[in-house]
Amino acid sequence: MKPFSRQIIIAVFAVLLLSPLAAFAQFGFENVQNSSDLSEMRQQIEDMSIPYQERLAIANKIRDLTGRLPWTPMTSKEWNQRLYEQKATVKQYQAAFPKLRCVETQYFLFASDAPPQMYKEIQILLDRMYGVLCEKFNVPFITPSEGQENGSNVQRRKSASAGKAVRQNIWQAKCVVVVFMNDSDYSQFEMRFFNQKVSSGTKGLCHQMVDGRVTISCRFSGDKYNLYSSLVHETTHGFSFMRRVAYPLPLWLNEGISDWTARTLVPQATVCPTKQKQAVAAMQKTHSLGRMFHATDHLDPWQYGAAAMTVNLLLKRNPSAFVHLIDDVKDGTDVEETLIKYYKLNYDELANQLGRACGIAGVKQ
Ligand SMILES: [Zn+2]
Repeated sequence: MKPFSRQIIIAVFAVLLLSPLAAFAQFGFENVQNSSDLSEMRQQIEDMSIPYQERLAIANKIRDLTGRLPWTPMTSKEWNQRLYEQKATVKQYQAAFPKLRCVETQYFLFASDAPPQMYKEIQILLDRMYGVLCEKFNVPFITPSEGQENGSNVQRRKSASAGKAVRQNIWQAKCVVVVFMNDSDYSQFEMRFFNQKVSSGTKGLCHQMVDGRVTISCRFSGDKYNLYSSLVHETTHGFSFMRRVAYPLPLWLNEGISDWTARTLVPQATVCPTKQKQAVAAMQKTHSLGRMFHATDHLDPWQYGAAAMTVNLLLKRNPSAFVHLIDDVKDGTDVEETLIKYYKLNYDELANQLGRACGIAGVKQ
């Protein structure tokens, strides 16, 4: 587990087929004594006359006080500078791995050495995924101002003179996605650019930074649909990270949302259905979710399946309540409290409902 520190990676989520692992340091924070100071600081990070680095420092101060890091809005100039830096970084990737081809889409910088058909399919998949997540998370439509198609993340409302409405860009400025066909290239990439030694079971990683930069990396390991599934899983982690504020969702919810999205968008992949079958078998055997709701640093593979099925159940029952649940948890409300508030279910009742949905009676948390 990595500490939450400025300007370095704060979390890496991994799809590990052998030993699933997800780590995200919980923030420690002081009691907030002076809410007027906080309110003033929140106004300052929105004040675009203050240089970006100063606003970022204020946002980090808010994080120190509250445990939640608000995202620092960027002017168009700052946004374009970030994008310029991201493109320069991808060029470094390409210099090290000349087979990588890069394309810029509305929300992604995608680099891969995949053959043309897969390359195209991944591009389409990323766009579809962004649309599905925006719909599920209720990300608003905005109308980019003329000449600012790549512009800042300051929300712009529809205006008569502006262009076609698009989903607000949740990234700052784009999400970088790198996909390798070769194990050894992938391992070298991770070591060289992220100082990360990947295990043989690692199929993908989500690198998240406190200044809002997100890089997803994945590798092909023989089945393209399982690659696509891993890619969606990891990119969804990035999306969950960028949603509202930088504050970690509980492990089961974070992994459940990522696996739910992967299964929904890539139904041909075997990895998520396998975990869900394992979850049903485990519930039949133990009538328990193994305290999945309380896990902080590890879920067993079957619990990924149980978490995804729980997210599916909540989304089917009341999709708009699910958005409120995520936002309240991001704001720091206790998860079980929010479940009771929006779904009238505590953990045991939710576990019981999940069991019943699978035809198994008496499942406890
Ligand atoms: Zn994960």
